[in-house]
Amino acid sequence: MNDLLVMKFGGTSMGSAERIRASAKLAADQHAVRPVAVVVSAMSKITDLLLDTLRKAEAGDQTDVEVNLHHLAARHTEACRLLLPAGRQPAALQGIDALIQEFSRIAKGILMLGERPPRSVDEALAVGERLSALLMAEYLESQDIPAAAVNAAEVIATDALFGNASPLMEQTRQRAAKVISPLLEKNVLPVMTGFNGSTLDGRPTTLGRGGSDFSASIAAAALDAKELWIWTDVDGIMTADPRLVPNAKVLDAVTYAEAAELAYNGAKVLHPRTLAPLAEQQIPVWSKNSFAPEKPGTRIVPRVEVVQGPHAVTSMADVALVAIEPANSALSGTKVMARSLDALARANVELLAITSSSYQQSFCFLVRQAELERATEFLEEDLALEFAHGYLKPLQVDSQVGLIAVVGEGMRGTPGLAGRIFTAISRHKINIIAIAQGSSELTIAIVVNRSGLEQAVRAVHDECGLGG
Ligand code: ADP
Ligand code: ASP
Ligand code: MG
Repeated sequence: MNDLLVMKFGGTSMGSAERIRASAKLAADQHAVRPVAVVVSAMSKITDLLLDTLRKAEAGDQTDVEVNLHHLAARHTEACRLLLPAGRQPAALQGIDALIQEFSRIAKGILMLGERPPRSVDEALAVGERLSALLMAEYLESQDIPAAAVNAAEVIATDALFGNASPLMEQTRQRAAKVISPLLEKNVLPVMTGFNGSTLDGRPTTLGRGGSDFSASIAAAALDAKELWIWTDVDGIMTADPRLVPNAKVLDAVTYAEAAELAYNGAKVLHPRTLAPLAEQQIPVWSKNSFAPEKPGTRIVPRVEVVQGPHAVTSMADVALVAIEPANSALSGTKVMARSLDALARANVELLAITSSSYQQSFCFLVRQAELERATEFLEEDLALEFAHGYLKPLQVDSQVGLIAVVGEGMRGTPGLAGRIFTAISRHKINIIAIAQGSSELTIAIVVNRSGLEQAVRAVHDECGLGG
């Protein structure tokens, strides 16, 4: 199916009856000229609502659970009523009700147990996407476009890391050939759920928050698609988050590597793992605005003509810096580092940046705040003897920090750039706490005081002349 176009619609592009109608039209326009498969997110804020419901269930707040269930039903029934002609509503409403019952059963199980088993959470969260896929498919059908809602649990095979699963590509290919290809052959437009999958023995999983982009790229790779279009609520990948930097500009094109660096360093516009499945077949991606589809968007491709200097600036606020320092020179810093990294790997904590000092044999690293507790727990356990006997100073944690990443293929071999960036930050009296640059020179990562983060992003954006 090598002319296939995979289109992914994010939460805001699915956020209301009106938005689903607009998104369906974008899919239908392309479907008229080429095979199309659609991947959808849950309606905006629905995944948050589902998660909140499960948390409240775990805490035993029955009334709040009921209130949330009511919101969930209201939002989808309203969308259904506004979207579909009267004759199609009863069947669709029944489908919606059945899915909400599924969710409600899991939430009530959690309420009774007082705990949230990760696998049940994943099963429950996928209901958000299953609801939006149902709405989109029903609407397409009402427009005489044959369509079928597909639960990605039938398509995307994953490992069993609930909440943050990784795809098993070969098995996904086989499943996609069985489930999606026959629909495409019959000219039926598949509307697959983003975000979820299942293990080889059928246990439901999810791919991590924001994971529908990743689902779409997995599907595109598994189906050998020609292109992937990711529809969102901004005009493409921008030189900075437009919510932080009002004069941020849309980029015409970025490389896979740049897009991945931006995403890994906090640019929410793409899920960090989106590009990985596409690398082998070099499937091009477009990031486009479903609210302004006439705009060209950003092309994400393996290579682009390099423009000198940085391309974009991104930031992460919810991070913490952890420092480990030997108290005694008898201790090998390299060994401590090796054991610490091993502990962090086993804790499944992602290191966002790391720097070390050879003189003091100390090192520090940056992690997400959500992973901080797990990180310190594993470190303290693995290095318990060293801490107990005073060979290591107590772990130092600084949560009042933020990360800035300056990204661009054209930064390679640009002398003086780092100096200019640091000066621009310092001019605002913002303290630079740590600096890291990979040997690829694609990214300079800078840890600053949290309170100066936004200002530092704007200062660097200005200094690098990235604004419109
Ligand atoms: P979707 O629901 O479509 O997946 P997201 O909310 O996950 O959309 O991502 C889009 C948002 O990403 C934008 O509204 C924007 O605020 C934010 N964003 C952060 N950094 C960037 C960037 N560099 N370029 C574009 N958008 C960005
Ligand atoms: N609905 C999921 C989330 O909010 C996945 C996504 O939207 O990409 O995280
Ligand atoms: Mg997203």
